[in-house]
Amino acid sequence: MTDARPLRLRFAPSPTGYLHVGGARTALFNWLLARRTGGQFLLRIEDTDKARSTDDSTRAIFEGLTWLGLDWDEEVVFQGANLERHRADAAKMLAAGAVYRCFCTTDELAARRAEAELRKEAFKYDRRCDRLPPAEVERRVAAGEPFVLRFRVPAGETTWHDLVHGQISFPNKDIEDFVILRSDATPIYNHAVVSDDIAMAVTLVMRGDDHISNTPKQILLYEALGAPLPQFAHLPMIHGTDGKKLSKRHGATAVGDYQHLGILPQAMVNFLALLGWSPGGEFEEVMTLDQLIHAFSEDGLLRKASVFDPKKLEWMNGQHLSQLPIAELEPRVTPALVAAGYTTAEHLATHHDWYRTLLDLLRVRSRLIDDIVRQAGPYFVDAITYDPEAVAKQWKEPAVVLPLLTATRETLAALPEWTPPVMEEALRHLAEAKGVGGGKIFQPLRVALTGLTVSPGIFDVMVLLGRERTLARIASAEDHLETLASA
Ligand code: GLU
Repeated sequence: MTDARPLRLRFAPSPTGYLHVGGARTALFNWLLARRTGGQFLLRIEDTDKARSTDDSTRAIFEGLTWLGLDWDEEVVFQGANLERHRADAAKMLAAGAVYRCFCTTDELAARRAEAELRKEAFKYDRRCDRLPPAEVERRVAAGEPFVLRFRVPAGETTWHDLVHGQISFPNKDIEDFVILRSDATPIYNHAVVSDDIAMAVTLVMRGDDHISNTPKQILLYEALGAPLPQFAHLPMIHGTDGKKLSKRHGATAVGDYQHLGILPQAMVNFLALLGWSPGGEFEEVMTLDQLIHAFSEDGLLRKASVFDPKKLEWMNGQHLSQLPIAELEPRVTPALVAAGYTTAEHLATHHDWYRTLLDLLRVRSRLIDDIVRQAGPYFVDAITYDPEAVAKQWKEPAVVLPLLTATRETLAALPEWTPPVMEEALRHLAEAKGVGGGKIFQPLRVALTGLTVSPGIFDVMVLLGRERTLARIASAEDHLETLASA
């Protein structure tokens, strides 16, 4: 960054819905850059649209950011509280001659727009009120006639160096004299944003691509107000996996939805960080928040749209699930196990070491907390159900499997010690004696013990279950296989 001022960045959501993942991505990029450069990350709630803004939405924004770990500096700014300054800034521009009063009514404008459409012309305000003699303006104001304030767009071109897109230029002739203050003296978006960004001393405005067409108007306002220009960075769109703009059609788009689905905030942050940014070269995708702060730079902002792939988010979650300190994982899983009816918090507390071992073994095969819960059943309930696919695959020939399982049970029952090396040696001997590969013993055994085709290592499973439950479970499987064999 060439600018010597410490960066002041902001996230400026309109509280008119939930916190969208796109908004969260914008917030995250601003936050990461502020944290990396020792600058500030400010939060402004753009609640000027009273009809659409809700307290629930404001709360969802606070909660979403807090859940993601994106803390903001300074007090939250509520745009609606700055109305007097918005008016004062407008008055300043009126006094300086940068804006003028326009008395055209909405109906008149609509009629002229319709006429232009009939002529197949693009409608642009024709500046007729800018040509009114000053005396007439005064008379109409004195008579209480309503007016809006319009910005007089100068001739020329408006250009900026966008940190994402490079140089962007708009010919000013394509920009109509836009309204900055309505007839009820409330500000239009572009004016409120610029007035607030100046007051908050924002030095870099980073926001979604959808705001690019607002930027030339905003630059003109900065110039008219005599304020230094911030830098601009417009982040590319986020698409669904079908290449279309991400919307509810693609599934959950609210940050809160992912929180409730059991996604870890660090996984969500990691995933969002890679939507439109890359550290460059070969890099490790799984990063902690600290690593992200360290690596993040405006140089890595990408121009092309990114793809929100929920499968990748799940994968990312699995990666973070495996890395999480076990003490942090426990309180996330315990309530889910209790809710599933498998156990009680008391039981887990009295079998703490066992529980931690179980979690450690299951989490490496899980993407979501739900996956852990689904795999955990066999370690808590005795009446396990055999997954039909597991049965079809590993118990295909009951008459072959049954005697092997019986021999397995007898071998295990006779072991002097219940430890993996001892189990392994004995079962490998058994396989040799029976003239079969190890898999012929271990795979059917896995189904007998867990009902599933996937589980932690079979010896770890037996240690978790303990000798008694292991032997009882094999015996039940033998009964089941006998029924299958005689069917
Ligand atoms: N309130 C605007 C929005 O939610 C953002 C304003 C800005 O970042 O300039 O789209």
